Amino acid sequence: MIAPPDTSQNTKGQPGIFAAALFGLCPHCGAKTLFGAPAQIADHCRACGYDFASIERGGRLAGLVTIIVAVILCAIALGLDALFRLPIALQFAMWAPLTVGGVLYALRFYKTLFLYAGYERQREGASDKEP
Ligand SMILES: [Zn+2]
Repeated sequence: MIAPPDTSQNTKGQPGIFAAALFGLCPHCGAKTLFGAPAQIADHCRACGYDFASIERGGRLAGLVTIIVAVILCAIALGLDALFRLPIALQFAMWAPLTVGGVLYALRFYKTLFLYAGYERQREGASDKEP
């Protein structure tokens, strides 16, 4: 019998982009070394030494990502306030960590997406040169 093609091979063993953004996984070796700071990509992988600085990172739109997340969070906050009239102390305790976490994750996701796309382009460019 012929086995069906293994579709998981299409991703070349790379982690999913959501997990990669959450844990900061290196696109080359999969170690949790992608971020040097909570939302800043490191210069290189501390595990395999892969040079992240050589990949185009698209950091110019990071401010726009932050604004979009802020607008979405504001809309949710206003909607919840209109519906439930939560005490202001509870709102503050709830929205402070949610805002920081939401913005950080959005920035990580955006930067990881760009870096992985750049990494793929770099790999394809390298394989084009080799016969
Ligand atoms: Zn690595």
